[in-house]
Amino acid sequence: MPSRNDSLTPEELARYSRHLALPEVGKAGQERLRASKVLVVGAGGLGSPAALYLAAAGVGTIGMADFDRVETHNLQRQILHGTEQVGNLKTTSAEKRLKSLNPHVAVRLHHEGVTPGNSVALFSEYDVIVDGSDNFPTRYLNNDSAFLAGKPVVYGSLFRFEGQASFFHPRAGTPCYRCLFPDPPAPDTVPNCSEAGVMGALPGIVGSLQAMEAIKHLLGIGETLRGRLLIFDLLTVRFRTLNIKKDPACPLCGEQARIKSIVPNNYDFSCASDGKTGPDPRMKSSDSGTCPLEVSVHEVQALLKESSGNVLLVDVREPHEVEICRIDGSRTLPMAEIPNHLDSLPHDRRLLVYCHHGYRSLQVTKYLRDKGFPAVSNVRGGIDAWGKEVDPSLPRY
Ligand SMILES: [Zn+2]
Repeated sequence: MPSRNDSLTPEELARYSRHLALPEVGKAGQERLRASKVLVVGAGGLGSPAALYLAAAGVGTIGMADFDRVETHNLQRQILHGTEQVGNLKTTSAEKRLKSLNPHVAVRLHHEGVTPGNSVALFSEYDVIVDGSDNFPTRYLNNDSAFLAGKPVVYGSLFRFEGQASFFHPRAGTPCYRCLFPDPPAPDTVPNCSEAGVMGALPGIVGSLQAMEAIKHLLGIGETLRGRLLIFDLLTVRFRTLNIKKDPACPLCGEQARIKSIVPNNYDFSCASDGKTGPDPRMKSSDSGTCPLEVSVHEVQALLKESSGNVLLVDVREPHEVEICRIDGSRTLPMAEIPNHLDSLPHDRRLLVYCHHGYRSLQVTKYLRDKGFPAVSNVRGGIDAWGKEVDPSLPRY
């Protein structure tokens, strides 16, 4: 492979001929792309099209940061990965596909993903960060770390049929994500995409836009989404852009910023969906009157063993989810039907409420407590945690 300083080889000239024909790119632009480094955070729905188009475009170094493995339910939208990659690390799967698409690209893998411990140093090694994260803690971590490292972030997010994108580079005068949303929402108020659902083609569009924003920034052409937030709805095909302003009171990039470094506790990963982290209120006996708001799947297992007659597992997922898997002996009552079926739930038994990841069931738990049920707890991490930690034979989704 030629070094970065060599001019483009005949093979590269042929490969990028449609770029070279664009006056906005040309040979100099193509060489500039080859000398550029882009970090894609998350090899998932957004990272898939973003990384594919960046590699195809000839961005010389692409970093892929993800700690996760490919699962069957990813394939509906994460088009970097094939069925034969299920069970493998997403980073190594991505490398295979990107190198096959364009062997001229150097692919650097960061198997540990982006963490509060590595983020600023990692971002410093790249020219642009493409944020393909799917949860709030990582999004705030990416935003803050990019600012501290002095690098721009191409933001993208998904909700059902709705997409958003922007270009945050507060060091160059644009607003940042915290200018729009200073603090993360409470974990139990936000469904993630597995709870809310997401149309598979949606990340295809948002991730491609993110690749385009990164490429324009690297080439210095056109107008990026700096100072603008693009919002669109694919069900009605309506696109709009909102002008957004830097917030002088922004906790990160404002005049009296309070975020000066990455403090791990500020990126509370308890709303990550692995069910292992987060507060761990100690289990009290079920008749003590102080039953904890949340219990772990291991505590559920022990409770069922000790006193199965006094315990009722309530599954608040939707019927299509129950068809995939369920915990034996549980009563199915979808979340939306609970207000109409309060009479059917016993007041003299301990209720353990679960859903897929523990978000919906936490809301139900609080609701039932408000309605006077004396002993209700949420199963932290939901049936996904049960499948990982108690019964590996359970299909996951
Ligand atoms: Zn800001």
